[in-house]
Amino acid sequence: MSTIELRQVEKKFGDLHAVKPLDLTIQDGEFIVLLGPSGCGKTTTLRMISGLETVSGGTIWLNGRNVTWLHPSARDIAFVFQFYALYPHLTVWRNIAFPLQAQGESRETVDKRVTEVAQLLRIEHLLGAHPGQLSGGDQQRVALARALVRRPAAFLMDEPLGALDADFRESMRSEIKRLHVLQHATTVYVTHDQIEAMAMGDRIVVMSEAAIQQIGTPSDVYNDPSNLFVARFIGSPGMNLVPGKYADRVVQMAGLDNRYAVPQGWHTALNKGLDGGSDIVVGFRPEAAQINDRGSLVGKVYASEMQGSSAVLHLTINENEIIHIRTDRLIPYPIDTLIHFDINPQMVRFFNPKTEAAIKPEVAQ
Ligand code: ATP
Repeated sequence: MSTIELRQVEKKFGDLHAVKPLDLTIQDGEFIVLLGPSGCGKTTTLRMISGLETVSGGTIWLNGRNVTWLHPSARDIAFVFQFYALYPHLTVWRNIAFPLQAQGESRETVDKRVTEVAQLLRIEHLLGAHPGQLSGGDQQRVALARALVRRPAAFLMDEPLGALDADFRESMRSEIKRLHVLQHATTVYVTHDQIEAMAMGDRIVVMSEAAIQQIGTPSDVYNDPSNLFVARFIGSPGMNLVPGKYADRVVQMAGLDNRYAVPQGWHTALNKGLDGGSDIVVGFRPEAAQINDRGSLVGKVYASEMQGSSAVLHLTINENEIIHIRTDRLIPYPIDTLIHFDINPQMVRFFNPKTEAAIKPEVAQ
């Protein structure tokens, strides 16, 4: 078990700043997800933790020990890659046993640990098979077993489910989560898939453009995104972000007919957070919209999308902008119907469009 701490860790490749100086403390037993679009620096951060990549600045601490310049093999960290990377000519048993044999463990210890980990992952019946005979999901289970068998201080996983199809991804997602609960091993997991991140992380580190945008629980990053990037990136669809002008406790939203009266508890914060300007962005999740004939906001149905337990209505609010609201799946809304709605006052958020930062209310809502 271990804590991992990154202090002002950064990476430059020539002129490219792949990871700008970042600070991150990962608690013992925590499942941390590094989430962000391609090229934002997730993999590089993970590789620096593992020692596969050197740092250009800053220090990395494992269990209070400075490991910044330690060789990967001296860090007691297991790395699970996207691809199975199994040895095709070895049986599953030998694949799993390999790291222990390489450490010179006794035959008895190797036997015991391989059996334990195979039971944990429910692959005992596959121990005599070769990787080529296994499904993608089983191959990934074997890869996980091989990482687990060493009982490392921490796990680093780089898009381990990336190569699997949707069904397998889901079952492996719960498998990894279950293992984490059982083993409680500190885990850093890289993905660009926000649904995976929300489902698995104790905390999510949202990255973009080589920098951390927000660190928080899934609920923090979903309900209280720190800036416009996080608001757009988290959620499917993302948060509705409607530009407008703020004055006298009211936002005139661009394109929407009516004026939006800002709920109590925001006025002082908005005056401060907008730096005296009037440009504002109003943010609300699709489920924060409440359809109501006397609602103060209005949009026109552009399309509706059935999503199983609910439906999503896409509403045009002006020539360029479409917002998304979640509705009852059983009520049909024909195209071009005018929909009046309100925003649940507990669930509205505001952003400064110049800085892109969220404005925090001064009193708890
Ligand atoms: P992806 O999900 O596509 O892997 P990522 O968020 O993990 O993206 P990184 O792989 O960390 O991003 O890459 C961050 C930036 O650093 C990218 O612009 C990438 O092209 C660049 N980069 C990564 N490795 C190297 C390298 N060895 N040499 C030069 N540039 C690199």
